[in-house]
Amino acid sequence: MAHADTTELRERLIEAARRLNTTGLTRNNSGNLSHRVTTGFLVTPSGMPYDTLVAADVVHVDLAGKASGRRLPSSEWRFHRDVFVARPEVDVVLHAHAPFATSIACHGRGIPAFHYMVAVAGGADIRCAPYATFGTEELSAHAVAALAGRRACLLANHGMIALGADFASAFKLAIEVETLAEMYWRALQLGEPPLLDAAEMARVLDKFVTYGRQPEE
Ligand code: 13P
Ligand code: ZN
Repeated sequence: MAHADTTELRERLIEAARRLNTTGLTRNNSGNLSHRVTTGFLVTPSGMPYDTLVAADVVHVDLAGKASGRRLPSSEWRFHRDVFVARPEVDVVLHAHAPFATSIACHGRGIPAFHYMVAVAGGADIRCAPYATFGTEELSAHAVAALAGRRACLLANHGMIALGADFASAFKLAIEVETLAEMYWRALQLGEPPLLDAAEMARVLDKFVTYGRQPEE
């Protein structure tokens, strides 16, 4: 559904940005959040604490990268823009330095099929994009490539990205990725866990097409 740039949507984005902190996905403002609108996207301002934001602090950026508003957009506006261009099904881009996902990513490692739930991100693993300096086109290109065919990825020496059709689905996925990262980190304490093979992950991905669909009342 196409969304207009309204005060209501800006306020929902601020409320969702605060949830980055209350869910433990981020501490302080080490992350950023955006929502697609008909004219581009709305994104959190750079380096500002979420708890004092008001609607006018949210920044509008068009798909050519032109920002408008009284604040500077997130330093990561490029990967938000590039995801919105590459992925028409995505309306929300969530970026967080979530502690466990980031710990795994600091080894340049993604999350392999140690647990079948990695399929929530859309494939047989959750990739880790190679390191590039924050806010660069290079980081954006690495992120878009790591997200190909997926709804989430890790960023080496940095954090994670989760995509969604709305705030709720992006948060659900980001929390699941962080939970998987925590479980993988714990599993690694006993050595490398055995991985599920490609055939099993194909079965899981197939089951995920209909999993959890309850009949309508
Ligand atoms: P911004 O405050 O500019 O969004 O930066 C935070 C961040 O996570 C950079 O990668
Ligand atoms: Zn970051």
